[in-house]
Amino acid sequence: MRIGFGYDVHRLVEGRRLVLCGAEIPYERGLLGHSDADVAVHALMDAILGALALGDIGKFFPDSDGKYKGADSMKLLAQVIEMMLEKGFALGNADITIVAEKPKLAPYITQMRENLARAFDCDIAKISVKATTEEGLGLAGDGIGAYATVLLEKN
Ligand code: MG
Repeated sequence: MRIGFGYDVHRLVEGRRLVLCGAEIPYERGLLGHSDADVAVHALMDAILGALALGDIGKFFPDSDGKYKGADSMKLLAQVIEMMLEKGFALGNADITIVAEKPKLAPYITQMRENLARAFDCDIAKISVKATTEEGLGLAGDGIGAYATVLLEKN
């Protein structure tokens, strides 16, 4: 078994879509980034790459590469899952915590879990997505952060 951890944060700005775990969430602001800035998927990809000791997403999907401008992070995740499979590993489980003062994410958690379970082609019971605030401290509404841990099992 291999364990991996990932962390990411993106700034909230006007005029951008808010996409978390592939779910588009209606909100007055969205996350700024070179890709769709899906901070939760970025943390998850880093956790998988970390478990495999392959580096980080900046190495595989550099924001200096125009190819990834506006990229759908779920498609990048599919590439990382492919790397995981090529190394002979399958997902044991994933646990993601999204840190956001706003908006309320509870109504979208199931959709996020379904999106990830589809990407891994695994049971939804292996995918946990949680949301918390920082009580107005920390990011204080200017951004959204995400932490991810994964356990990978050798086939
Ligand atoms: Mg990122």
